[in-house]
Amino acid sequence: MVQLDQQAAQAPILTRGSGPLDQALRARARRVVPGGMYGHLDVEMTHLPVNFPQFYETAHGATVVDVDGNEYVDLMCSWGPVLLGYAHPGVEEAVRRQAAIGDINNGPSARMVELAELLVDTVSHADWAVFGKNGTDATTACCTIARAATGRRKVLKATTSYHGSNPPFTPIMSGVTAEDRANIVEFAYNDLASLEAAVAAHEGDVAAVIVTPFFHDGFGDLALVDPAFAAGVRAVCDRIGAVLILDEVRAGFRLDLRGSWESLGIRPDLSAFSKALANGYPISAVTGTDALREAANGVYLTGSFWLQAVPMAAAIATITEAARTDAVGRMTTLGERLLTGLRSIATSTGIPMIVSGEPTMPKIRFEGDPEMRLANLFCGTALEHGAFLHPWHNWFISAAHTEQSIDLALAAAAAGADVVRAAL
Ligand code: PMP
Repeated sequence: MVQLDQQAAQAPILTRGSGPLDQALRARARRVVPGGMYGHLDVEMTHLPVNFPQFYETAHGATVVDVDGNEYVDLMCSWGPVLLGYAHPGVEEAVRRQAAIGDINNGPSARMVELAELLVDTVSHADWAVFGKNGTDATTACCTIARAATGRRKVLKATTSYHGSNPPFTPIMSGVTAEDRANIVEFAYNDLASLEAAVAAHEGDVAAVIVTPFFHDGFGDLALVDPAFAAGVRAVCDRIGAVLILDEVRAGFRLDLRGSWESLGIRPDLSAFSKALANGYPISAVTGTDALREAANGVYLTGSFWLQAVPMAAAIATITEAARTDAVGRMTTLGERLLTGLRSIATSTGIPMIVSGEPTMPKIRFEGDPEMRLANLFCGTALEHGAFLHPWHNWFISAAHTEQSIDLALAAAAAGADVVRAAL
């Protein structure tokens, strides 16, 4: 474990970050919301730097503003949904137009059909699409459709891969029963032998393998997918007649609009999309192949707000604009600038920072820092210098970032690196 020079470690972080309005809201929230905040957005429970704000007021482009009026170059994009930048004019215009006509009615609007057509045209494996609200809706529906299609029970997932907050998938076991997890079987990402072992242990009962486009979970480093593993997952599913579910909830539309494994030549049977689909408006989608059309038609898919027209209009505007402007290409170039800059900061200062992940979804970690004290010092200082960098989750680039905003984030990162070096 890293030993810090306590004086140097506690020196900075005073002027920007959680201020009086944020603190007052936290105190009020503690009275009316259990714990004051829940889930991974609880800045205290999740051990974020002490100056990280809990509450935000507004956001535009690549900038977020907390309730105390502090502005930050943002590298979280609302944890993924913001693909084209906050309050993107084209998306907001589509939202205003749709809201003026109608959002929720006795049935869907024409936007549902238009969006399904657009997804079928955009996502290579897709012959159909159905919609929900959250990523968990989509991953849950994928599993249900796979079980309906195969008549089998088991869903194989990679250890520590996150696929949703429902009992089968949540990483926190409080309130979850063994029965809730009975049909989930784990294997190691990028490890075909462990997948084969999981299949062998449940021969004849594997409904699906659910996998993310690259390994983007846990507190370690991110890992790009091994193409041989992706091809192997496809081959295993084909051999045993199981459904290959690609969980695109986090990576979808940040690697390839056609599907994240398209450049590898691997197509899933079902994909779950959500976050980036509508630039921040609430919607998720399952896309699937013809072979699963009947099964999808047979399962009960519904939610009171699932067919809202406004998020569908936002999704149509987002996908159309992302395709027209080559948002993925632009984000990738900017992400490479960020990765190169971060790695050169680590080298020049000698701090033990490891940068991993895809250019559009990078992550940092410090060696020998299991309690994330260095990561918090680094990100707390960067926040002080005007950049929101997360100490343990992957970051997200949007198409609203510019070379200038990336350089601003790098300057803040360099300030963080100096403080870490001084504290070591
Ligand atoms: N799958 C993945 C890969 C995710 O990253 C997430 C959300 N972080 C989910 C599923 C669940 O999505 P939601 O929180 O919208 O239910």
